[in-house]
Amino acid sequence: MERFKAILVTRDEATKQQRPAELVELGLDDLMEGDVTVAVSHSTINYKDGLAVTGKAPVVRRFPMIPGIDLAGTVITSGCSSFHAGDPVILNGWGVGETHMGGYAGRARVRKDWLLARPEGLGAAETMAIGTAGYTAMLAVLALERTGLTPSSGPVVVTGAAGGVGSVAIALLAGLGFTVIASTGRPEEADYLKGLGATDVIDRAELSQPARPLGKERWAGGIDSVGSHTLANVLASTRYGGAVAACGLAGGMDLPSSVAPFILRGVSLLGIDSVMAPVTRRREAWDRLATDLDRDKLAAMTTTLPLEAVIGVAPDILAGKVRGRIVVEVGG
Ligand code: NDP
Repeated sequence: MERFKAILVTRDEATKQQRPAELVELGLDDLMEGDVTVAVSHSTINYKDGLAVTGKAPVVRRFPMIPGIDLAGTVITSGCSSFHAGDPVILNGWGVGETHMGGYAGRARVRKDWLLARPEGLGAAETMAIGTAGYTAMLAVLALERTGLTPSSGPVVVTGAAGGVGSVAIALLAGLGFTVIASTGRPEEADYLKGLGATDVIDRAELSQPARPLGKERWAGGIDSVGSHTLANVLASTRYGGAVAACGLAGGMDLPSSVAPFILRGVSLLGIDSVMAPVTRRREAWDRLATDLDRDKLAAMTTTLPLEAVIGVAPDILAGKVRGRIVVEVGG
């Protein structure tokens, strides 16, 4: 029977504690139900994958589990008319890597509704260099655009700038002509962030203290992957009529803010979810990524690792030590 490499997490059923992730060999019978079987060529490491692999937060809700919320590959067998053997496909989210066996394995068996045809003009590795982090950054840009925000509205702040969502958000916004202010805890990455298109780089400490209800109006919009005091400060410093897209919690899940930015400055807070986003919105985001994201900038923010390296790198992404994006070569 065909065997393939996989990263597996299990738990001790007596204590309900997740065990350390292992690299193992599995067969197709170990996968879950689905319409389409995919040979996975590439995956990636998002913040959520770091949580799943280390067990630092209860992201995995079914055991045993193959983590990996993203995958790219080629259809091997299909029980539906929408996909055929040989089709290049991608998958982001839908609970894959959390409740359904995910992308850190040579094979994946998934529901047809979760798959997208790989966008024209993007290679499998490029789609995973973008991954959920980059597709979320695009969802955030689209949400800001829907409020009417344009480069002439004023600068846009990006927090968690040197991380995955942050790096792609900077490249996208700069490519669209926005003036981008990058907030980072890694001042040594200033040249990297300017290379992606940031005009100004600020120390994240400026935004991490408890926020006043309103501050000086510094930007017209924001993309925040940090949450907590940082998001509160971003809101308090958003110009009249501006908008902030909230997509992450790298600094905390709370939001110690007030209603002042909303009721005194008409600021909008836009929630961004990638996991259950409807297919039409996903297609729109991927189409825009294919046309708008500068490939040289994408390459500059990407590191490539083999599947075997994932377990070792997972703690680093939670510690904020990973710069930009990681492509995982699965090679299934
Ligand atoms: P990364 O780890 O790549 O980026 C997060 C960045 O946040 C870090 O690089 C760091 O940037 C900054 N950061 C980390 N810890 C702290 C802290 N304690 N205080 C302030 N800043 C901090 O993760 P991703 O880009 O993959 O994900 C970012 C966030 O977005 C995560 O919370 C993730 O769960 C969320 N997310 C949400 C999605 C959704 O559907 N809503 C989809 C994808 C991600 P720097 O060093 O530059 O300061």
